[in-house]
Amino acid sequence: MKIKKNYLWLAFSLLAMLQNVCVTMGQNTETKMFDLSKYPVYEGTDLGLTLTPQSLSFKIWSPPAQSVKLRFYEKDLGGEPIKTIDMKRGENGTWQHSENRDMLGKYYTFQAQINGVWRNETPDPWAKTVGANGKRAHAIDLSTTNPEGWDSDKSPNFGKGNDAILYELHVRDASIHAQSGISQKGKFLGLTQRGTFVTEGGKKYATGLDHFKNLGVTHIHLLPSFDYASVDETSTQPKYNWGYDPQNFNAVEGSYATNPHDGAVRVREFKTLIKTFHANGMNVVMDVVYNHVYKADAFAFEELVPGYFFRQKSDGSLSNASACGNETASERPMVRKFIIESVLYWVREYHVDGFRFDLMAIHDIETMNLIAKTLRNVKPNILLYGEGWTGGDSPLPEKDRSLKKYAHRLDDIAVFSDDMRDGLKGSVFDHHDKGFVSGKLGMEESVKFGIVGALQHPQVSYDKVNYSKEPYTKNPMQMINYAECHDNHTLWDRLSNSNPQDSESDKIKMFQLSYTLVFTSQGIPFLHAGGEFLRTKNNVENSFESNDEINQMDWTRRAKYDANVVFMQQLIALRKNHPAFRMKTAEAVSKHLHFLDVTAKNLIVYQLKDNANKDKWKDIILIFNANRTESTINLPEGKWKIALQGSQINERGIKTVKERVTVAPLSAMILFKK
Ligand code: CA
Repeated sequence: MKIKKNYLWLAFSLLAMLQNVCVTMGQNTETKMFDLSKYPVYEGTDLGLTLTPQSLSFKIWSPPAQSVKLRFYEKDLGGEPIKTIDMKRGENGTWQHSENRDMLGKYYTFQAQINGVWRNETPDPWAKTVGANGKRAHAIDLSTTNPEGWDSDKSPNFGKGNDAILYELHVRDASIHAQSGISQKGKFLGLTQRGTFVTEGGKKYATGLDHFKNLGVTHIHLLPSFDYASVDETSTQPKYNWGYDPQNFNAVEGSYATNPHDGAVRVREFKTLIKTFHANGMNVVMDVVYNHVYKADAFAFEELVPGYFFRQKSDGSLSNASACGNETASERPMVRKFIIESVLYWVREYHVDGFRFDLMAIHDIETMNLIAKTLRNVKPNILLYGEGWTGGDSPLPEKDRSLKKYAHRLDDIAVFSDDMRDGLKGSVFDHHDKGFVSGKLGMEESVKFGIVGALQHPQVSYDKVNYSKEPYTKNPMQMINYAECHDNHTLWDRLSNSNPQDSESDKIKMFQLSYTLVFTSQGIPFLHAGGEFLRTKNNVENSFESNDEINQMDWTRRAKYDANVVFMQQLIALRKNHPAFRMKTAEAVSKHLHFLDVTAKNLIVYQLKDNANKDKWKDIILIFNANRTESTINLPEGKWKIALQGSQINERGIKTVKERVTVAPLSAMILFKK
């Protein structure tokens, strides 16, 4: 029965998994005749292009190839090769060639002859940068791409794990709006501009970088910024995609660069973005999509080693746990090596501070833990998290998948909590469903599950939690608390759907109640960009390729809903000022977090007691009243100061109360005692 239920869930996911909307369905190419498991494994770390003072050294891995050609071109698109080389066979399935440095700055491709057939020309799977639309790799010296001051670039210190505050941002969304005040619209460089603003009613409101900085978030989580396929980089027409369609995993996306033809420009501009965020106190997380590729039969690795990069069903056809036509085989040694080397490269070359793994459960647990171990050797505080689910069934045995329910087997890698997300606002599969904040009964335990960071806690009734019937984390840093992300309706659109009869001011109360829960709970809080000004996508639920009008951050709303922006800023500051909301161990949460008995429904009250996590506040009481009526709560003994009352936040105390307190409808209250 358990397995059946699981498959039901997978089927659901398949239907509604929205971040990996497929642009094209890949097809299996061929070659069941090769026994992939017999291919030799190459252990060296010099695959791709390596520069020496005298030469350019090329090496690829293609055990089944009979011959391999390396071609150099003057341009990234079109034209005839200026030089064609027959590569020499190397050890363990590799092919190599050493070229003089005259070819630096040229573009190059490989072509393998396999089983008597010359396959398509392809860029280097390990290509570190490419020309327009990722068709040819670009041979450049990366040391020439560093922006000024790169050597002293340093990631800001944010603490650890759940001290992070994540802000999920799409590069183009951030600046493309006509009133963003940003000149480099839709580009990496647009995110490096200071002093930009929108004017409304004679008043200026910061936009872009300054706005993100003012919010106080610690991590900017960028939607795919590696080279993806769905946007034509040579087109001057506006074209949009989220970017969950990988083409070259180790290259930067060209449509965000000012010149997609020049690989060095891509690299330099993305480095400039990272350096600028760092200098302004923000870390940078990359959203990575190693679980599938845009088109299996056109992928560089596939052209060189057919069948190896992807999982197959027993009939030899491609399996499809991504719901995008293919899924990668992380358990195969050379795929595992490829992924580990790729993330390591982003950290070393670009100083990236974390990764969000799309459909992480397609990856096996062993690979994820090797990634964590490898990256922590280089950057101990790196933030790793992902979606603990797949978009369909996989040949990878269930026990090996990096599923949410196995978070405790992952080495300090966090998972998104759909339990909390849907507990707050309703199921993403039913567009009109309500949640705790919007009037659905019986969601208390799902929300409490989020409050404790998906840990074992004696006062949570797991059988009443919407999805997970048991805790899954080892510590509170393993869970992402969120109410909205790029997938599905924004929280504001959802509330408009689920509660059309309610006034804007009531919906704002529900919105603020949601985020008060997200930002005071023990997991890692996550904010979808623009949520702070009640982002809408005009009710488009799956905007992966919608136009700018739907996807853009509408900065006029930043001005219009300034009060909500201020509220979110203060809420973020409250979390940062109070370690009690960021306990680090399961033991600490058990010891310091205690739910108070309440008889009323839709009401959650709990206490963080005895200077939890060395908080300067000795005791804190949090009350979440999702009812349409006010609730009166009897307080533990003593005088209590109110720090948060609905939309009002004052950490010095709004007023002092004792014995009991009345909490307004659809609102939260936080009280403390020193
Ligand atoms: Ca691209």
